[in-house]
Amino acid sequence: MNALKEKLFKLIAVQGPVTLGQYMQFALSEPEHGYYMRADPLGRAGDFITAPEVSQMFGELIGLFFVQAWRDRKSPAPFILAELGPGRGTLMADMMRAAGQVEPGFGAAARIVLIETSPVLRAAQKRTLGHLSVHWVDNLETVVADAPFFVVANEFFDALPIRQFVKSERGWHERMVTTQKGMLRLVATPEPVPVPFIPARLRGADRGAVFELNDQAEAFARDIARRIGRKGGTALIVDYGYTKTALGDTFQAVQDHRYADPLAEPGDADLTAHVDFARLAETAREQGADVFGPIAQGQFLEALGIGVRAQRLKDTAIDRLTAPEKMGTLFKVLAFAQAGSPPLPGFPC
Ligand code: SAH
Repeated sequence: MNALKEKLFKLIAVQGPVTLGQYMQFALSEPEHGYYMRADPLGRAGDFITAPEVSQMFGELIGLFFVQAWRDRKSPAPFILAELGPGRGTLMADMMRAAGQVEPGFGAAARIVLIETSPVLRAAQKRTLGHLSVHWVDNLETVVADAPFFVVANEFFDALPIRQFVKSERGWHERMVTTQKGMLRLVATPEPVPVPFIPARLRGADRGAVFELNDQAEAFARDIARRIGRKGGTALIVDYGYTKTALGDTFQAVQDHRYADPLAEPGDADLTAHVDFARLAETAREQGADVFGPIAQGQFLEALGIGVRAQRLKDTAIDRLTAPEKMGTLFKVLAFAQAGSPPLPGFPC
């Protein structure tokens, strides 16, 4: 049994079963042994590969997207350029290189802030971004809100802890993690719980149906949209997920590029859930933001000219990023902007 599992056993012995959200938070972010806290999971030698690690074209096109969005918003200076969960810092490095080639004023005006909890990944980001002036914080609340806010997040929202609710004849029960015969097991609360957050059209679902709630994701979307509403700016969110709030169990573990049992060895596998883009979009709209998308990643990158760029770079990764059976369709792109501000590149008008 690994150290984190032992800790969890002790915790559950004292306080009883934990919610799936608490389990996920613990497995990913427990300060000592949490998955993101102790190792760099990215790349071929790690557990999974993300778009910026597939090809430099991804970050370059996103850099050009932000230059255009910034110019269309009257090139404010200074402005905050934030990234949520920057991994190895590859996306930010590629963005800033491409931006610098077309608009030196963009880099000069940007105050780069990286929101990152992992010390290991912070160190990797420092290596990748050593040539830039960069500032790190643990959470978005600590970022000053006195300037226009531009923010990017790639494969960040899928790593935030979800809670799950399961339907029985008597109502909805929350999924909990407990211990049994030396193993971790999923159970449901004995009694039904109130579920005001489940849309009415889904509440009458059949027995066994699962609903996922990501309250941290909603809190991030709300904070971002508020900042943009007050000071202007643009948010770009890229992740795998669904475009309409729906039922279904998407909780998964990936280890060494393969699916694994999410309860087997907490802290040793990446745990994720698909992102409910409709909920993020609604949350931003509730704050008064204009919302663009979600559209498929393939469509977005093609609209930004990935085809031309791939030819010039003789880059063959275009297929992996845009093909429907690869990352082109499952991955979606969603953007927020201040109400009434100009359209954003890559999104249909
Ligand atoms: N965006 C990168 C990395 C994705 S992995 C890429 O595309 O390659 C998820 C990232 O989010 C990691 O950097 C991880 O350490 C960070 N992370 C996860 N949960 C976080 C949280 N609650 N706050 C800040 N960073 C978090």
